Amino acid sequence: MPTLVLRGQIFTGDEFIENGCVIIDQSKGTIAEAGRKGEVNEPENAHVIEIEGSTILPGLIDAHMHFFGAKKYDIVEWLTTPETLVALRSVADARKLLKAGFTAVRDLGSKAAPYLKQAVDEGVIDGPRIVQAAKSLSQTGGNDDVPILPIEMSEQLSYSYYCDGPWECRKAVRKIVRDGGELVKVYASGSMSQGTKIRRQFTLEELRAIVDEASSVGMKVAAHAYGEEALMNSIEAGVHSIEHGIGLTSKIAKEMHRREIFYVPTLSAYLAVKPRTEEQIKLTQRHLSEDLDMAKQFQVKIVSGSDFVGCDTEPHGQNYQEIVALSKYLGNKEALVAATSRAAECCGLQNTGRIKKGFDADIVIVRGNPLDDPQALAPLNIVNVLKRGKLIRSS
Ligand SMILES: [Zn+2]
Repeated sequence: MPTLVLRGQIFTGDEFIENGCVIIDQSKGTIAEAGRKGEVNEPENAHVIEIEGSTILPGLIDAHMHFFGAKKYDIVEWLTTPETLVALRSVADARKLLKAGFTAVRDLGSKAAPYLKQAVDEGVIDGPRIVQAAKSLSQTGGNDDVPILPIEMSEQLSYSYYCDGPWECRKAVRKIVRDGGELVKVYASGSMSQGTKIRRQFTLEELRAIVDEASSVGMKVAAHAYGEEALMNSIEAGVHSIEHGIGLTSKIAKEMHRREIFYVPTLSAYLAVKPRTEEQIKLTQRHLSEDLDMAKQFQVKIVSGSDFVGCDTEPHGQNYQEIVALSKYLGNKEALVAATSRAAECCGLQNTGRIKKGFDADIVIVRGNPLDDPQALAPLNIVNVLKRGKLIRSS
């Protein structure tokens, strides 16, 4: 069997090993053994790569992103860019993500993701493995409804299904299943992209219907939620992850910890977009300090997700910026956990996110040590990427 041995310092997704060794079974695409050098059996005649001055770590995971294939941060452009152009740009974005060390991503709402996933899985294009929600769910007049367009046109172009009332919400979940979505993304509140005052969207009854319908087919729900009411409704409805979570209180953080709900704060999206109103400035400042402190204090499971959409201010390939942003609050090691082992758990990926025996050989090798400086994860420091044991690039 073709065997590849990597020797060097390792971050396993949980801990750092200074003198480590990873044995990769390339025919299976899995890790045959990993651990301290001398404690693992290195097969004879294997191809050995000595990694010096670099670090071996699990492939990075972005747990919240979108393949929008748009140039600008502008909802009308996101809705109206021709789908063929979106697809072509997304193919380039998928390749950039993989070369930047991202071996898995979770797309939380786009028109392209189910087909992009299929093309990656078929081996037609290079890209990270994709977990995707297909279209998201929004109420009428909600987050992705563009009021300057006639409603039928807005709904037809939107990357969300509009639904109101528990039965329409259940039907929308069934459409996601039909589209091949693997989880459900719901807008439980407004957001800053429309510049509106932040209010809850969907009622608790509607959110409960969505979670119930999703769980009947084994799907989890990710809730975009700003503000106490939307956060509390989402938690009570039983969602799997809270996205953004602006306005986290101690009561909410405590409940998230108790129910083991993942938290994807998407800091880099707020660092990339300039807030436009007084209220937005206040919410952003609060998010970049208090919300994270609150989550940390109550040991909420924080996960790395950039919310990058692939436009000029949020280019795919630069998604490591979220890990850098998280490291300022969590420290370098916890930020790496948030982007590897914990991100895999949040995305429902069983066999990736760790350098561990039996896991898929999804690995990134970076110059320097990201435990000392997370800038080591910047694309120019990527030495090589392995996806299921296959070398993607060499520099
Ligand atoms: Zn998003």
